[in-house]
Amino acid sequence: MKRISFDYDGTLTRPRIRAYAKLCKRLGYDIHILTSRQNDITSPDYLYDALGHDFFCYRGILYCNDEVFALAEELGISEENIHFNPGGFESSGRWKSTFFRTEHEEGRKYILHLDDDPEVIQRLNKDKYQCWHEVTAVSCFKTAPWVDKCNILLADTDWAAYLALKANS
Ligand SMILES: [Mg+2]
Repeated sequence: MKRISFDYDGTLTRPRIRAYAKLCKRLGYDIHILTSRQNDITSPDYLYDALGHDFFCYRGILYCNDEVFALAEELGISEENIHFNPGGFESSGRWKSTFFRTEHEEGRKYILHLDDDPEVIQRLNKDKYQCWHEVTAVSCFKTAPWVDKCNILLADTDWAAYLALKANS
């Protein structure tokens, strides 16, 4: 099955991109979330006691991963398809590149990754050129024309089957 991955912050947090992810899911693609957030977080006791969840602080902002899991559930993405940056130590570009290289080596094919981070886009597309993986990174940074680029990549989609599915549901 062909896989498509989405960054979380600044990407899947946008309603139009969430709607696009839903569409891709209905078209039969295997949807993944690839985020530079770390998941091995333990809040200081005072924060946990006050807020009831594990939070982590990045550039002065508190984040909680519950929202990532909640969105995944809304989109019908299983937890095993959510990939965090273990430890959160590597730069986003390096960690995502390593992720796709490993997946490629193990025979898992991704055709598209959507992300708002220019460093990630540049890094992934450079590594694709080196044949280290086959994923094409599409930028949704600011007003980048991501929908058109994504649709070109999904050009072999069976739209007739999709419309039939839609008509029957
Ligand atoms: Mg992002």
